[in-house]
Amino acid sequence: KTYTQDEIRSLVKSEHVEFLRLMFTDLMGSIKNVEVPTSQLDKLLDNKLMFDGSSIDGFVRIEESDMYLIPDLSTWMVFPWGSEHGRVARLICEVYTADGKPFTGDPRNNLIRLMGEMKEAGFTSFNIGPEPEFFLFKMDENGDPTLKLNDKGSYFDLAPMDLGENCRRDIVLEMEKMGFEVEAAHHEVAPGQHEIDFKYADALEAADNIQTFKLVVKTIARQYGLFATFMPKPLEGINGSGMHLNMSLSTAEGNAFYDPKGELELSETAYHFLGGLLSHARSFTAIVNPLVNSYKRLVPGFEAPVYVAWSGSNRSPLVRVPNARGNSTRLEIRSVDPAANPYLAIAAVLEAGLDGIRNKITPEDSVDRNIYVMDEGEREENHISNLPDNLHNATKALQADPVMKAALGDHLYQSFVEAKRLEWASYRQSVTKWERDQYLEQY
Ligand code: ADP
Ligand code: MG
Ligand code: MG
Ligand code: MG
Ligand code: MG
Repeated sequence: KTYTQDEIRSLVKSEHVEFLRLMFTDLMGSIKNVEVPTSQLDKLLDNKLMFDGSSIDGFVRIEESDMYLIPDLSTWMVFPWGSEHGRVARLICEVYTADGKPFTGDPRNNLIRLMGEMKEAGFTSFNIGPEPEFFLFKMDENGDPTLKLNDKGSYFDLAPMDLGENCRRDIVLEMEKMGFEVEAAHHEVAPGQHEIDFKYADALEAADNIQTFKLVVKTIARQYGLFATFMPKPLEGINGSGMHLNMSLSTAEGNAFYDPKGELELSETAYHFLGGLLSHARSFTAIVNPLVNSYKRLVPGFEAPVYVAWSGSNRSPLVRVPNARGNSTRLEIRSVDPAANPYLAIAAVLEAGLDGIRNKITPEDSVDRNIYVMDEGEREENHISNLPDNLHNATKALQADPVMKAALGDHLYQSFVEAKRLEWASYRQSVTKWERDQYLEQY
């Protein structure tokens, strides 16, 4: 819903809001916020609220640090949880430079830019339904996270196995108060692991929702003495956390992926989008799996994809076509993890798909057999490549693809690649417990 300035002014009064939390997202996907008292409301609505962007990850140099926060009034929301100092509302903002232009280093601005490209290509929305997974760990008496999981539950377990149930229910209730339509919430396969699915939305709103969701999960978990993490693979030997993205494009006529006369009832647009996704999958991996740790999840044996392939029936490949048709016709990409910056991840898959549509890229045939039992030769025969196996190789693949550079735009692309190279360089110098366990006594 969009609000006028006057509606926001009266909502501040009628909801007794004392503080406005102005939010945006940095390069790495962290939510940043500036809190201002409601006395600053007029200044904010006049687009005159400035902040210093020089210390924000991936933003700007000192000499051009003054930036404006331009509120997106459609993101108005009052936090349901109480505050002793009065109620707090949030507005998600677009970052503008001192000379009044959208700042190209703002991941949200970049997604807005790509939505413009999508409209030029003839579509009205890019629908995204995320399935974020997370772990709940116990906290110690100082409120620091431990590595003790809060339960021994497994897929779809009920209490008392699932001690996280009350916490998860509270998260769902808070989300509903905030206007989310929660479709399902359940215990995941690993102990202490949960999934909450909410209804798909157009790309920008979906990315905003993912950011808000993470904030709610972390806030409510704390109230239960639990620590929630979206780290992709916090513990070895059990599943990691993914964030499958369900995707479809709409036109004024409806779901552009559905064609009752097409093969598998999928439209040509769906096949071309799929072709683009698969052909850029290796190069956008760094964006959708951005951490050194992300690659500890993308290994065989833990339900995460490893190979570039698609299927209409099998649940294990990189891209799956869920059974639903009609308005629910969609593609599901399963590599994405919840550490990804959602604005960048959605921009990357959108640009990959649009590239497939522009260049009429036809995907390889679907692979409906279990890829994990094929040997390398069989995979080669079937044109199945591997996803990059670490952040270093993923960053190199990203650098080799001009389409992904266009998806991020120069500023974000340069800062992202630079940050990932530094991250890898730092990781390379670390000596891990695994190495000491293996080598210390043997050599
Ligand atoms: P899975 O079967 O993989 O566990 P879920 O049922 O958990 O899938 O999640 C399905 C997601 O797909 C939900 O977020 C839902 O809103 C979303 N979805 C449904 N229809 C569409 C569509 N046409 N485009 C994009 N997402 C959709
Ligand atoms: Mg699911
Ligand atoms: Mg499901
Ligand atoms: Mg799941
Ligand atoms: Mg799924």
